[in-house]
Amino acid sequence: MTLQRTFTIIKPDAVKRGAIGDIIEQFESQGFRILAMKMLEISKSQAEQFYAVHAARPFYGSLTEFMSSGPIVALALEKENAIADLRKLMGATDPAKAEEGTIRKKWATNIEFNAIHGSDAEDTARFELSFFFAGYELAK
Ligand code: UDP
Ligand code: MG
Repeated sequence: MTLQRTFTIIKPDAVKRGAIGDIIEQFESQGFRILAMKMLEISKSQAEQFYAVHAARPFYGSLTEFMSSGPIVALALEKENAIADLRKLMGATDPAKAEEGTIRKKWATNIEFNAIHGSDAEDTARFELSFFFAGYELAK
């Protein structure tokens, strides 16, 4: 497997709970290289664009409200098998179903306020990375 890039967001709930340092520590100790990172707030309409794939879902309104409710930390990560390995480290969307040792098991409150976002495939990773980062912002 060659090196792969993925995209992650430490969500507003996790930032508010003081989990930034712990989560970044887990990325590094699990072998992810940080290519880019920034803390920012996004607007509701930016959250709507980012989560456009979920526009028809019943939780779209509350999700985009939540994602624009406070600071987030966006990161570009690289490792072999990064997309699947990040999803594994994150744990299930619903923390009640997340495995021990996962970020969501440790930090998520419920299925909505679940601490972290991670790309789910190569095409979504490409879209999400380019949504938040320009090419020149990524480490060589
Ligand atoms: N979400 C929600 N209710 C649900 C399912 C998802 O509020 O029933 C939120 C939750 O924050 C989740 C995000 O919508 O992380 C995107 O959902 P997805 O199914 O893509 O889950 P993920 O890929 O984040 O595990
Ligand atoms: Mg998803």
